[in-house]
Amino acid sequence: MDYLDTRLPVILLIDDDQTLHLWAVRNLSEDNFRLISCYNGKEGIEAFKKNRPNIVMIDIEMPIMNGIETCAEIRKLPMSDNIPIVMMTITEDHQKIAQSYAAGATDFVIKPINWKVLTHRLQYMTKANNNLLKLAQSEIRLSKANKMARLGNWEWQQSCNSVFWSDEIYSLIERTTDDFTPTLENFKEYIHKDDIPYVMRSLKKSFFSKKPETIEFRIISANRHERFVSQQIEPVANDRSNFIGLIGTIQDITERKNQENKIRHLAYYDEVTQLPNRIFFLKFLSKTIELAKRNNKTFAILFLDLDGFKGINDTYGHQAGDLLLKEISTRLTNGLRCSDLTSRFYDHIDQKVDVARLGGDEFIILLNELARPEDAATVAERIQCWITQPIQLGDRQAHIGVSMGVAIFPLDGEDSETLLKNADIAMYHAKKIGKGHYQFFHEGMALKAKKRLEMETFMYRAVSNNELRLHYQPVIDITTGELTGAEALLRWESPHLGFLPPNDFIPLAEENGMINQFGEWAIREVCRQYKEWQLLGLGRLSIAVNLSSLQFNQSSFIDTVSGIFEEFDINPAFLTFELTESMIMADTDNMLKKLQNLKNLGIKLALDDFGTGYSSLRYLNRFPLDILKIDRSFVKELPVSSDAAAIVNAILALAKALNLSTVAEGVETAQQKMFLQNTTCNSVQGYLYSKPIPQAEFRTYWEKHSMVTS
Ligand code: C2E
Ligand code: CA
Ligand code: CA
Repeated sequence: MDYLDTRLPVILLIDDDQTLHLWAVRNLSEDNFRLISCYNGKEGIEAFKKNRPNIVMIDIEMPIMNGIETCAEIRKLPMSDNIPIVMMTITEDHQKIAQSYAAGATDFVIKPINWKVLTHRLQYMTKANNNLLKLAQSEIRLSKANKMARLGNWEWQQSCNSVFWSDEIYSLIERTTDDFTPTLENFKEYIHKDDIPYVMRSLKKSFFSKKPETIEFRIISANRHERFVSQQIEPVANDRSNFIGLIGTIQDITERKNQENKIRHLAYYDEVTQLPNRIFFLKFLSKTIELAKRNNKTFAILFLDLDGFKGINDTYGHQAGDLLLKEISTRLTNGLRCSDLTSRFYDHIDQKVDVARLGGDEFIILLNELARPEDAATVAERIQCWITQPIQLGDRQAHIGVSMGVAIFPLDGEDSETLLKNADIAMYHAKKIGKGHYQFFHEGMALKAKKRLEMETFMYRAVSNNELRLHYQPVIDITTGELTGAEALLRWESPHLGFLPPNDFIPLAEENGMINQFGEWAIREVCRQYKEWQLLGLGRLSIAVNLSSLQFNQSSFIDTVSGIFEEFDINPAFLTFELTESMIMADTDNMLKKLQNLKNLGIKLALDDFGTGYSSLRYLNRFPLDILKIDRSFVKELPVSSDAAAIVNAILALAKALNLSTVAEGVETAQQKMFLQNTTCNSVQGYLYSKPIPQAEFRTYWEKHSMVTS
């Protein structure tokens, strides 16, 4: 386009009036125009093709081909769009002027021509036109850039409902200009049918609100390829600020979308089961709540926690654990006929049931459109049934159970967090009453949970804040009445919660693992105390410490206790560990070794609460025990209940046969003492003699007692 700036602007003058040409040469050439003169329309058209003028001037009144026809013909020529055409006329004939405009004229002048004014006008026109051409050039460049960015553009004019498209859009729908007419209706056929309403809505919205819109939708090309596109829509106004149409760009974003989908999958789905994960579920739950609020609906969530999953994971390994989780998720999804959450998630929620994996062995189920809360119970029962069927893990068969908590919207929470928390609390209670159950949430549970949480927070600091105490309960030789020992019992003096007996906090400490710290503290405290008593020359006593199963099962347990003995440079022969039957039930060689190791250190072993558990003779015989403690529940009924008396006698006979010494717990009355004095029972402990007392009081008791006996 080198003629743009470097050459003199060229004016093509078409007029049959010879004199006008003379005037033109005189006036226009002076002002630096180059003039090409033609005397009829045909000639003019030819000259236009050859010379590419900057401005065309045409007389309306001409023989053969009049000016309006000439103008229309020129406008049909390629590259003529941007070239101004000025019409000349003698009269102000409005009809002719209108026809000229319709034929593509840009402007008109009235004869006789005021050459001075016209010169300025033509100069202005050339300048404006140059700018226009520059714009066109840059548009060409832009269109190249668009091609590279796969950016197509379109225009829609309301008046004629016509659409213009750039080539990229044709290639996007895999059609060509030859076989396709661009209309909105035709284009609609290439929009994914689910997206059509959405696309049409946004077009309308942009037009009527006069605001730009950006949307993403799917296109199905002529060859059935699905592409994701992003469309920007902008309303167009004419110079009188009336909105006359829309323009827009369409960009193929399929690759970006695929990438996004991959990332979204990683972010929102669980890798093992391919179920929606916690994040996704929470989003989904919020949406469901919104919808339920709007429509006054109720729904339920079921919080599932597998029973015994850890055992399977530990015994068979993680791979088997994963396999099991996959199987469970398949059973749940199949069972609930869960439709896919993904594709619809952003637009609507129309499925009745959904399942997600929250992590570990926790799953969550959402029962939408619940007719009655009781229906959740029916589903819970079904779930029990699906999950408890044997699971094939390679060549082995596993059995697993499930505990469930149910929370109902809006009854048990109006936001996702509360709802999920309450379902979790209800699940916890279901576990508590014995695994394999389901529980509906109720307020009392929340209160308990709150208290538990509060206690937990304080519990973490109990040891470091020095809030734990040991109370000692004397153990008396029943025949001599001598003090032979004491049982150390834990207390927690919390500045926030007050003075707490072990039954109030040990179950929680066992759940959250704090019992390990507490237990270790108790052993250390007993050793420290005993060492102090030794240094004071208080003589010898046997001190019993209770162990918890978690603590005892720690692999480092033996090392920890030996470390404590070294720390205090103390002989642990004074120490008795009290174990419960359930702790040593797993009758393994490993357990035997552990107990043997404790024995080798010189520690005595007592079986606590005997008679309440399994009372299996097998481990009584096999494990190196020293003492049997007869549970308080039997002693309590002595001597009135003949059953209790028979059981106590049987236990005593058994102990004698196995060469174990015996302690009767919870002796409260003189009658109970008398009954036991007539048996082979060795020692007693109970309120009749003393409650568990703080160490200072116990020391006084001890001193007094040794004075009596010595
Ligand atoms: P336990 O081992 O059976 O301890 C005996 C419980 O019976 C103690 O309750 C004691 O105060 C109570 N008791 C003793 N004589 C009588 C009596 O004549 N009548 C009545 N009604 N009760 C009597 P305490 O101290 O509340 O301890 C409760 C349980 O907490 C213990 O039962 C034990 O299982 C556990 N525990 C206590 N200290 C520890 C500890 O340091 N570690 C562990 N793991 N558990 C502990
Ligand atoms: Ca005990
Ligand atoms: Ca006991």
